[in-house]
Amino acid sequence: MENIAESLELLLGRIRLTEQKYGRNPGSVKLLAVSKTRIVNDIRAARACGQLDFGENYVQEAVNKILEINDPRLIWHFIGPVQSNKTRQIASHFHWVHGVDRVKIARRLSDARPQHLPPLNICIQVNISNETSKSGVSPEELPQLAAACRGLPNLRLRGLMTLPEPWPDIEQQRIPFRKVRMMLDSITSSEYPLDTLSMGTTNDMEAAIAEGATIVRIGTALFGERT
Ligand SMILES: *Cc1c(COP(=O)(O)O)cnc(C)c1O
Repeated sequence: MENIAESLELLLGRIRLTEQKYGRNPGSVKLLAVSKTRIVNDIRAARACGQLDFGENYVQEAVNKILEINDPRLIWHFIGPVQSNKTRQIASHFHWVHGVDRVKIARRLSDARPQHLPPLNICIQVNISNETSKSGVSPEELPQLAAACRGLPNLRLRGLMTLPEPWPDIEQQRIPFRKVRMMLDSITSSEYPLDTLSMGTTNDMEAAIAEGATIVRIGTALFGERT
């Protein structure tokens, strides 16, 4: 557990230094600890050091852990692909969903959001390197999907999420993140401000922060390699 405390401190230090390096406001980048495949005790160890936001990809695994940990201060983010037969569970147990890429999914999440809970925060996933089968909406389809999400009563559109293909160097990594930042600007309006760019993982966190990420989603650098 000491390991996790140490890695968390190093990681937060790295985030703060990167904010400084690229002229970002101190504290403007939030760490989302990606805890998929990790045991409950690892999540508790990070929690004990003050980490509150956790990201999960697999619904059943996540719901089991959320119920077992049962800590009302934790903020759970669903970051995996959303299947339509899982929307009820996701809408009931999570605070955020980062991978919304179809109107049908957005509508189902809104319909399934329990009335005693505040609107579900969502990010639309965009696909800017569209050669692979990765999920995400194309830049052309984004304005329409954003408008549809804004019209749904139990969702609160917060911004965009992306998971570009891995590039070895920071200059290449910055290109897709810059495109997504410009896409966020293009759909932001004064009646409906957007405040979230969910981008950057262990390998491309610096590039994402340089281009305006407000949430970085980090697993490996915090908890170690996944097996
Ligand atoms: C697993 C995952 C991450 C974390 O990746 P690391 O390389 O372990 O930091 C971030 N975002 C998504 C969508 C993921 O599935």
